[in-house]
Amino acid sequence: MMSITTMIFPSILLLFIMIGVHVHVQSFVIAPLPLSNQNHRHSNTNPITKPTHSHATYTTKLHLKDENLTPEQREQKVEKATIAMTKFSNTYLKNTNTKLCKDLSIPAVVIKGLAEHKVSLGAPLCPCRYYEDKEKEVKEGYWNCPCVPMREEKVCHCMLFLTEDNAFAGDRTEITLEEVKEHSSKIANDS
Ligand code: SF4
Repeated sequence: MMSITTMIFPSILLLFIMIGVHVHVQSFVIAPLPLSNQNHRHSNTNPITKPTHSHATYTTKLHLKDENLTPEQREQKVEKATIAMTKFSNTYLKNTNTKLCKDLSIPAVVIKGLAEHKVSLGAPLCPCRYYEDKEKEVKEGYWNCPCVPMREEKVCHCMLFLTEDNAFAGDRTEITLEEVKEHSSKIANDS
């Protein structure tokens, strides 16, 4: 039987990601890791830990790639990016032998968050983390999807790519564009 923490985790993750999807130029809050992934929490002893930076080295000014677009132009770009990120996710699920979460709202919102970042930043920066300087993060590439922890250890803290032993993993290895749109807009409307 799942613990209470295990049951409420997807809801917390959704909430954090939706904050970012709604206000796409704002920073995200770091979501807690799934219980099954807690051994992979990145620390300074982890060989794939990203080096930390002094706060003084960061700037917060963003040169967003969508700042001069009309709402209609931006919507078209987000649609195109959502199609691309859905295709990427389905291919990557198969290539890594990973599964979607039983609750399709999770992958839907993550894919939408990746698409939003692709439009605003020019790269699919992970939508589940807090960044002091998103442009710097994009250039470094560590958290561009698929991020280094996923590529090296099969750890996706967004729960988009779940290994079969994960308590939240379902049977599906594919999500349709319609499902991405339906679930992400439902969450957006409810929030
Ligand atoms: Fe975020 Fe990494 Fe998962 Fe992509 S693979 S959604 S970058 S945690």
